[in-house]
This record gives sequence, C-alpha cells and structure tokens, in this order.
Amino acid sequence: MAEESKSSLDALSALCKRRGFIYHSSEIYGGMPGFWDYGPLGSELKQNVKQAWWQFTVRGREDVAGLDATIIMHPKIWKASGHLDTFADPMTMCKDCKKLMRADQIGDIYADQKKKPQPKAAGSDFFCPYCGGELTEPKPFNLMFKTVVGPIDDPSNVAYLRPETAQAIFAQFTNVVSTSRFAVPFGIAQMGKSFRNEVTPRNYTFRSREFEQMELEFFIRPDEAVEILHGHVVTLADRPNLDGPVQDDWGWEVWHKYWVEQRKKFLNAVGLPTERFVEYWQKPDELAHYARACVDIEYDFPFGRQELEGIAARGDFDLTQHQKHSGVSQMVFDDPLKQAAKKMDEAARKAFVEKVQADWVARGRDAVAAEKFCLGLFEGKYVPHVIEPSAGVDRLMLALLCEAYEEQQLKDDKGKDDVRTVLHFHPKVAPVKAAVFPLIKKDEAQYRFARGLFEKLRKRFNVQWDVSGAIGRRYRRQDEAGTPWCITVDEQTTKDGTFTVRDRDSMEQKRMTTAEFLAMAEEALEF
Ligand code: ATP
Repeated sequence: MAEESKSSLDALSALCKRRGFIYHSSEIYGGMPGFWDYGPLGSELKQNVKQAWWQFTVRGREDVAGLDATIIMHPKIWKASGHLDTFADPMTMCKDCKKLMRADQIGDIYADQKKKPQPKAAGSDFFCPYCGGELTEPKPFNLMFKTVVGPIDDPSNVAYLRPETAQAIFAQFTNVVSTSRFAVPFGIAQMGKSFRNEVTPRNYTFRSREFEQMELEFFIRPDEAVEILHGHVVTLADRPNLDGPVQDDWGWEVWHKYWVEQRKKFLNAVGLPTERFVEYWQKPDELAHYARACVDIEYDFPFGRQELEGIAARGDFDLTQHQKHSGVSQMVFDDPLKQAAKKMDEAARKAFVEKVQADWVARGRDAVAAEKFCLGLFEGKYVPHVIEPSAGVDRLMLALLCEAYEEQQLKDDKGKDDVRTVLHFHPKVAPVKAAVFPLIKKDEAQYRFARGLFEKLRKRFNVQWDVSGAIGRRYRRQDEAGTPWCITVDEQTTKDGTFTVRDRDSMEQKRMTTAEFLAMAEEALEF
C-alpha cells in the first residue's frame, strides 16, 4: 500500500464509526474517555484476531495449554507481583485549568496541540501543554481499578480488577502442572480483559482503560539445569536454527529470541508485513530489575512509532514472588535432570557449585543462595524461568486497521474522479470473508442459486448477503468492510453453476464453481 495514500487516524476513525467497527462506549450519554465498544464488524475482527492468536499459540502447538481465569483475584496476588506497590505512572495537575496528565507524556500532548500554549510563568519548562499554566509536582498514581467484594464497603474487602492477565497464569501454575501432562519447557496462555486506570487515555483505542490482552508464559529450565542435562547450553552465539523444532539444550537467551521470531511470524500471518514493524531491544538501564531481556515490537501508527507488544525474559521472578507470598512451593520436579545429576561424582558437583556461585556473585546475587539452588537441581528441583510474550488485542486491531486502510484515487466509468475506500485485511482476520449477490434479484433462478450458496458458505465462515443497489455499490460497501471476495451470481450461473468471484485488492473477477471457491478460500484461511 502506498505510504502517501494512508490516511490519518481521523479518516480511519470516521470509517470505523460509520461502518460499525468501533464506537465510543456509552455514546448516548456522552461517552467515557478510554472506553470503546466494537460494533458488528469490529466484534468479528476481534474474534478473528483472538482466534488466530489462540490457534497459533495454543492449539497449533503441543507444548502450550490454555487458561481462563477470573478478572478479580485475591488481592495478595497484586502484592506479590509488585503491582500494588509499583504499578504507577507519574501524575501531575495544572494549577490553572485543573487538567490531570501523565508527567512523562507532557511533550507528546504538547506536540499534539494545534495551538501551542506558551508558559504563563517566564522561564518555566514544565508547564501545562493545554493552557501554559503551572504544574504540580508529579506524584505516583497507581493504575489499578479498585472495587469492593461483598456487601460491606470496608478496606478489608478491597479487591482489584486485574491490570494484566499474566498473574493468573503464575497463580495457577501448580494446578496446571499437576493436572496436565506437561513438563518444562511448556507454556500457559490466556486471553482476556485487563483494566488500567490510565491517567490520559489517548490515540483512539491505543491506550484504553479497559482492553484485552493475549499473554503467554513459557516456562523453561534455568540454564544451570540445561548445563547438567546436556553438558552445555546453546546461546545465540551458537547460531541455533530458530525455524526448526525447539531443542532441549537451548538456554534462556535462545528461547527468548525464538519467541520474538514466533511473534513476528504471527504478525506476518495476520497481515502485518515484517518491514512495517521494528524490534526494539531494551537497553540494560531500561529493563525491569528482574528482567534479563525485553523486546518491544513497535509499529508505525499514524501518531508515531509505538509498542504493539512485548517479549520479556523474566527469570524466575514471578513464581518466586508467589512462592514467597503464598508459602506454596512453585518448584517442579524434573526427573531427567535428577537422573543426569546422579551421574555427576562429588568432584563434578563441587566444581559445578563453584562455577554457579561465581556466576551468581558476578550478577550481584548471593553465593549461599546459589549453593542451595544447585543442591535443588541435583534433586531435580527448581523454580522454572519464564519467557513472556504479551500482546494487546485492541492495539493489534488498531495496527491491522491502520495497515489495511487505503483511499484509492480512481476514475469511474465516465472518467470522473472517484475515491475507493478499502480495507486490505488479510482474509484470516477479515470480519466478513465473502459477500454473495444475485446480479438481478428479481430473477428467480439467480436468487435461488445465490441464496443456496450463501446458506452453504455461512456454515463455514462469516458471509454477507446483499441485494440492494447496483452491483458497483455493493462491491464498494464490501471494500469498506474489508471483505476479500464478492460473489456475483448471474445468468451464466444458472446454466453452468459458475459465478464471478471479485478479488477486493486487484478488483479482478474470475469465474469459479462452488468447489473451486471453497478450495481457494479454505487455503487462504488456514493457519
Ligand atoms: P505501555 O508502555 O504502552 O503503557 P506497557 O509496557 O505497560 O505498555 P505491558 O504491561 O507490557 O504494556 O502490556 C502488554 C501489552 O498489553 C502491550 O504491549 C499492549 O499491547 C497492551 N496494553 C497495555 N496497556 C494497554 C492499554 N492501556 N490499552 C490497550 N492496550 C494495552
């Protein structure tokens, strides 16, 4: 798609409203900032994005299981995870216009203003981007939504709407291990609503207060366990083949890069070409204290390059925190590891412990803890480490909409300028896969064939029926919805059973039989 024909967010949001992709939540009451609803086409797009992720991440693999946990969980989970103490943004308020904003977003808000305010106090470089007024000292503002569980409104009954789906996966880790036949390495995936009381929700659905996430926690052995099992640990320097099957001797670094590659494959598969996003590897001073690496996949939204999703190597931080706070062991028993450790003699064990201690001390950790950890490994026990690919459903939908949107300048039959608005969705995520039209609705044979075909196709995927207006107008309606194929039943259909299939992107028409169309569509839709 030509860069210059990509339109602004305003044009896209107008189309999304007009065609029923996205509405303001509670619009008849004036809406609520940071809350959005998906209309008839948007809800189909959302279902498709989520199904694609589930198929790619869970059903399409043998080493990942799903979870569907509650939104409100025990408040101690958020204490253990650190959210209660540190999940906060710096908030400031304008002393003049009383607007609240995130102190770290003032530059962006200022850049967005059509009329740039000047500071009211001379020489001030920290002023309100709306009116130029003086700002208060930034204070941390916790983003979790509070609620009360049960009829008594008392601090002891306070609970939180989850700000991420990931913590439920850690909290249910021991249950999944004991009720499934998985052994490390394996993953647990969850999709669902998350809530963050964002100080300044902005950029359409990009930063919402209620949104959905698709998260995977992929549990791996600590590198030290891999070392005992294989006598070596594969690192990125070994140039492992990340396209082939996963390997038992991979270290965390390789697993992390493997998941970055998997996520890129997924984004390609749903219609974001590789050249449209970038990998941003966080610098050591940007990483959370427990993280060993974190990659943000960033997309060029119309409002700038922004994070679409992240892939973090989080060590054993989360499970260890829950072990500490709940008192329930989060260790797994790894029999192959125990068997491999049995083959080490005293001297080999001693040398191993010393090596691990030196490594831990070099990373600022404790030598006594390192020895305890090694003794656990010799028994086949450890707290697994984790790689976390974490994506937002709504952010991906917004990226897919931006990517798909095009206004084409065409000439109509009479040579007059014409604009065709089209959403070039990949067929896998397109809300409507095909539309069926009888060319002449009053022609009984055409109508009957078309209706029969429509009934047959709708058993397999989402299909629309349209008999109103000229055929050109019907095509344009589907172009705006992003429907990849328009089927027109005409006179010839009633003679030989073939119909025209018009391709949304090339606008070419081909005659096909029902079987040919189904084979073509199913191949395009397969994951
Ligand atoms: P940001 O820096 O943009 O606030 P984050 O780094 O805090 O995001 P994570 O906590 O890593 O985000 O969440 C994982 C993913 O969840 C993000 O990459 C994004 O796709 C999605 N996400 C997070 N916050 C929001 C939000 N307020 N609205 C929509 N999606 C969100």
